[in-house]
Amino acid sequence: MALRKSRLAKEPEPSGEIKQAATMWLKKRGVELNEIANLVYEIQKGYIPDLETKDCLESVERVLEKREVQYAILTGLSLDTLAEKGLIEEPLLSTLWRDDGLFGIDEILALSVVNVYGSIGLTNFGYLDKLKPGVIGELNRNKGERVNTFLDDLVAAIAAAAAGRIAHRHRDGTLRQRPC
Ligand SMILES: [Mg+2]
Repeated sequence: MALRKSRLAKEPEPSGEIKQAATMWLKKRGVELNEIANLVYEIQKGYIPDLETKDCLESVERVLEKREVQYAILTGLSLDTLAEKGLIEEPLLSTLWRDDGLFGIDEILALSVVNVYGSIGLTNFGYLDKLKPGVIGELNRNKGERVNTFLDDLVAAIAAAAAGRIAHRHRDGTLRQRPC
């Protein structure tokens, strides 16, 4: 189901609709949720011997139910897409195309996602940002052809938060229990 078309909708969209839109936007920009789940698995497998990738995908899904996460994705991916279309003013346009290391607003936006399941997410985010494993590395290799300035940080942040959620729930013995 697509988001309502009206640009002047008075009522906020239900969280489920925004989650669907955010997931679709990630997919349109080349990122599947199972690729994010794979990052979560890599972070957590050393701590939880019986961890399965489906636990990780479930955790990614729960992170995407948070409204601040949904809005961060829509905001960041809008800016990447507008930059790709040349619809942003200079000097911001060139800065986004370069993925300038001193820009920093991409990381700031991602931080609003990182801590939704506790500050352990911050450590996970730093790890992913530094090593750029899996799909994060692939997004970085597209530089010059695509603008993924916000996308790579958002993907790392979603994975970091989902890993933090798993760590907390594993400690509490509630990893596979609902509700989340
Ligand atoms: Mg970036």
